[in-house]
Amino acid sequence: MTGTGRGGGPRETAYDTVIVGGAVMGSSLAYWLSENPDYDGTVLVVEMDSTYERASTTLSEASVRHQFSEPVNIRLSMFATEFIAEFHQHVQVDGESPDLGFRDTGYLFLATDDGMDVLRENHEAQRSCGAEVALLSPGELADRFGYMHIDDLAGASLGLRNEGTLDAYSLMRGFQQRARHNGVEYATDRVIGLRTTPARDRVTHVEMASGAVVACDRVVNCTGPRARWMADLVDLPLPVEPRIRGAWVFDCRTPLDGPTLPLTIDTTGMHVRTEPPHYLAGMPPVDDIAVDPEDFAVREAEWEDHIWPALVHRIPAFERIGVTHRWVGHYAYNTLDHNAVVGPAGAVPNFYFCNGFSGHGLQQSAGVGRALNELITYNEYRTIDLSQMGHDRIVAGKPFLEKAII
Ligand SMILES: Cc1cc2nc3c(=O)[nH]c(=O)nc-3n(C[C@H](O)[C@H](O)[C@H](O)COP(=O)(O)OP(=O)(O)OC[C@H]3O[C@@H](n4cnc5c(N)ncnc54)[C@H](O)[C@@H]3O)c2cc1C
Repeated sequence: MTGTGRGGGPRETAYDTVIVGGAVMGSSLAYWLSENPDYDGTVLVVEMDSTYERASTTLSEASVRHQFSEPVNIRLSMFATEFIAEFHQHVQVDGESPDLGFRDTGYLFLATDDGMDVLRENHEAQRSCGAEVALLSPGELADRFGYMHIDDLAGASLGLRNEGTLDAYSLMRGFQQRARHNGVEYATDRVIGLRTTPARDRVTHVEMASGAVVACDRVVNCTGPRARWMADLVDLPLPVEPRIRGAWVFDCRTPLDGPTLPLTIDTTGMHVRTEPPHYLAGMPPVDDIAVDPEDFAVREAEWEDHIWPALVHRIPAFERIGVTHRWVGHYAYNTLDHNAVVGPAGAVPNFYFCNGFSGHGLQQSAGVGRALNELITYNEYRTIDLSQMGHDRIVAGKPFLEKAII
């Protein structure tokens, strides 16, 4: 591989792989391609905002869980755990790497009677993949988390190990520093067009807002909540839209009397976790609709009308809290089935999707980047098989549903 560019325009006129979007997904793929001795091509990452301050990655709540319903999602997150454990060795440059600050706090999914069947099914799937999870009865819940109101609960699922929170920016930076060190070039520009063959069955060039045009063998769509606009450039269907998600950080006057609060998913959809020395909560908005990708307005009423009441109901000590700060970001939300779309487009085989990660893309980035690198290099998946996430199901309108969505 050649090139060590640190921003600015592209230095060459042609690249083997052009990745559009340089946040956690784009940079993970760049990292894995550049680490793979069998991939001997060049890589250009085009990123329109080198601060990443509006990327989902940096606005994420940055947590990892093994508690999904689909084995492929469980395996991707279990690989995240492995990758996190050896992050320094993987991404270090001259002995330096960003600090991920992983905190192993667990996730706790709460359920009423209605939710218990799904909780048990998910539990079986998680155990069969080797996840360390336990089903808790209301009595066990009360014994363990005495500060929690449990009268309306029928049970819960608790992650016993390897679930928790990390620093999202550091994860992205780790991929970037090592990819750059390996020769990946980053250009600061916005992709505005894709040129194709007359039959429109191959992408030949990538056009940028600056006027730069580069030829490419393949292009990978890692544009997060804007993914649909990139797919539109080659007339490919992609039911992925930006949906707003808020995060509220608050201070609790009276410390909770008991063990650390895991990332707890309430039966209302509200979730809350520790963010030492504070707590962090969020909830899907009542009107969960597509928004403009430039819309970063905090929905204040969501806190007052829905999140805080749900918090107080579940943990009465949260009656006396003060919000210290809050922000919103966007999920890249797949309206067909909440699952990611990964792999080439049948109609344009050198256009690759890496999209639709909703609220779990950060933890999937290491596994998805590795898998997509295999598909590009060997034309097959060699570690985690992501074929169920392929674009063919979008074309066929056949959902591949993930049930454990936050
Ligand atoms: C509030 C919130 C909480 C979350 N919590 C979690 C969590 O706990 N755990 C978890 O795993 N995931 C979580 N997620 C999801 C996770 O953050 C995302 O799935 C992940 O960051 C997606 O990464 P990405 O690289 O695909 O997209 P992004 O981070 O959005 O990056 C896309 C990049 O593409 C660039 N781009 C877009 N269009 C163009 C263009 N035309 N030309 C050039 N560049 C372009 C953008 O500038 C951006 O940098 C959360 C997300 C939000 C919003």
